[in-house]
Amino acid sequence: MRYLITGGAGFIGGHLCQALLEQGHSVTAVDDLSTGRLENVQMHSQNPNFQLVIETITNATVMDRLVSECDIIVHLAAAVGVELIVRSPVHTIETNVMGTEIVLRTARRYRKKTLIASTSEIYGKSDKIPFNEDDDSVMGATTRHRWAYATSKALDEFLALAYHREFDLPVVVFRLFNTVGPRQRGRYGMVIPRFVKQALSNQQMTVYGDGGQSRCFCDARDVIRAIMGLAENPQAIGKVFNIGSQAEISILGLAKRVKELTNSTSEIVLVPYDEAYDVGFEDMRRRVPDTTRIHELLAWQPQIGLDQTIQDIIHFFQNDGKDEPISGKVHKNYQIVG
Ligand code: UDP
Repeated sequence: MRYLITGGAGFIGGHLCQALLEQGHSVTAVDDLSTGRLENVQMHSQNPNFQLVIETITNATVMDRLVSECDIIVHLAAAVGVELIVRSPVHTIETNVMGTEIVLRTARRYRKKTLIASTSEIYGKSDKIPFNEDDDSVMGATTRHRWAYATSKALDEFLALAYHREFDLPVVVFRLFNTVGPRQRGRYGMVIPRFVKQALSNQQMTVYGDGGQSRCFCDARDVIRAIMGLAENPQAIGKVFNIGSQAEISILGLAKRVKELTNSTSEIVLVPYDEAYDVGFEDMRRRVPDTTRIHELLAWQPQIGLDQTIQDIIHFFQNDGKDEPISGKVHKNYQIVG
């Protein structure tokens, strides 16, 4: 099969390209390198089954050609990362809405199966545990930038499902929950690469809020298996799937674990949200996926535990990624807890 991966040079895109090539597929990655990086795909540059097109997905002419040449599309390109979203709300909304519109319109023209990446942010600040695919979204006010991301991705989902219903386009929507692994960067807010980088350089480890908020982290390599399973299974068409782990850890607990695994002397500090992000930032307290649907279809479940993922990320930052900066905001207001 010839896959077109939008956002193919991103953290998840890079892992997906690699896994597809290993299985003998042909891959075209399209990426404008805004948050994607050449380093994530350059190891395939000599592979005749791989090509990288450096272009934005909002270029409809280029997308027309790329879509016409592929068998299946995995649409990952998006403005992601909480810091980026809070800093560049216009870019976030425009990329996520216009980009997906072009992908779907072009996919319809050539009748190509399309997988659309979405996010657990869709559930908003609902406190239901765990989140089922058919649960309500609970969005915050439009005056709070954070919700622009969730709302833009919700529109992507509506549009994808509408193309399926109205034009019979084969689409699959998958919602990713805190995907982590080697090659993820901490520049745009992602917590594990930030903690690992801080711990390895014995800088303060910055836990936002009281650290009691929790997340379920899923290794990118497990996530890729799920995406590939959905791509190949005709029964996934027209449906929405959660992809994530159900193993929950508090962010303070995570900081302590990273400190142990790196043998770091870093202080762990609590930084108030208003200091870390923007005044009025709203964080999710807990976020756990219900993965019954994907488990029933593909017998999929995560296989790589969090400690293994953290070890692999440590290894990455000690080797290939050692010069990678993390955003260096200096916090004046914090409390030392570990
Ligand atoms: N977080 C933190 N310190 C950091 C970066 C993030 O305590 O340096 C927290 C963040 O406030 C959230 C959690 O870690 O509660 C996960 O953040 P991330 O940006 O990785 O993903 P999110 O779940 O917010 O999409």
